[in-house]
Amino acid sequence: MNETRHDWTKEEILAIYDKPLMELLYDAATIHRKHHDPNTVQVSTLLSIKTGGCPEDCGYCPQAARYQTNIEGNDLMSVSQVKAQALRAKASGSSRVCMGAAWRNVKDGPEFDQVLEMVRTINKLDMEVCCTLGMLTENQAKRLAEAGLYAYNHNLDTSEDYYKDVISTRAFEDRLQTIDNVRKSNVTVCSGGIIGMGERLGDRAGMLVALASLNPQPESVPINALVAVEGTPMADMEPISIWEMVRMVATTRIVMPETQVRLSAGRTEMSREGQAMCFFAGANSIFAGDKLLTTPNPDVNEDMAMFKQLGLNPQKPFIKVSQPKTVEAGDSQLQPLGEKPKWTRPGHIIERNEAVKDRAKVTE
Ligand code: SF4
Repeated sequence: MNETRHDWTKEEILAIYDKPLMELLYDAATIHRKHHDPNTVQVSTLLSIKTGGCPEDCGYCPQAARYQTNIEGNDLMSVSQVKAQALRAKASGSSRVCMGAAWRNVKDGPEFDQVLEMVRTINKLDMEVCCTLGMLTENQAKRLAEAGLYAYNHNLDTSEDYYKDVISTRAFEDRLQTIDNVRKSNVTVCSGGIIGMGERLGDRAGMLVALASLNPQPESVPINALVAVEGTPMADMEPISIWEMVRMVATTRIVMPETQVRLSAGRTEMSREGQAMCFFAGANSIFAGDKLLTTPNPDVNEDMAMFKQLGLNPQKPFIKVSQPKTVEAGDSQLQPLGEKPKWTRPGHIIERNEAVKDRAKVTE
């Protein structure tokens, strides 16, 4: 049940998603604590280093140039601006900085060189650096890796079937190609999606099939709830309920036991109780800061108060392999197995398969 599988079918995933809630939560939480510390949640900060004016037509995105939204566009930030923001993020508990640029794809030249310098600069601050810059060639992925990039985000967004209803300026296959290019470097992969865009449950399952079948699975999977922004084609979408979010998080945790599941956009609409349920279901990261690229996000003090109330600890950076845990029937005490968590830095990333083999030995 807890082995990482890459052959999940849509039907199997739908059957998990549809389980009675208490069973689903129990299954997800059991898997979660076998692979992760259930009381640790990573705090990440998302910086929009270049905002608006994007030539793509993602139906959910206020940064697409073709939609009339209230977004104020900005040229690429300077390295010193990014450093100042990263230091602020670190001081308030973030261990990861994700830099987003509203580009269709990365172009070699002075702007990319500037991003590489940003990566080097944040890397020196002892924080994980992630970028989301659009489509990427294999060579560009390697250059980012050399600069010390820890993760590259490239979301699948939804199922292959529904993708063309959301975006017409590129294809699902293009997303997979960029993920593949990232995989050829030693940068970890962050890829997830958005729920609440009018997709069917089968599309949510289809997206999880696509993510889970990647081998290795993404180290990080953000699950976003659509933030419907006026001026975008999805402005009138009904918000999803917390129950859908909890089910999606739990199902993601079950089919991708080792990945870091990130509770991403849409948290402003969730109560503290709702978020607690998501953590129980296997979410182990949040984004901090008052903005998520361009949409609102809970205040960092509010998040820290929630952590205190729930007894959660912010995760330190560069934890690539989580501490395996096991739960005996009727035993409320978690028994840690094996050695201390393994830490690694970019450039010294433990070969994933080795890490998985190590864990298998520990849990045998
Ligand atoms: S999601 Fe990214 S690629 Fe799509 S329109 Fe927004 S900024 Fe552009």
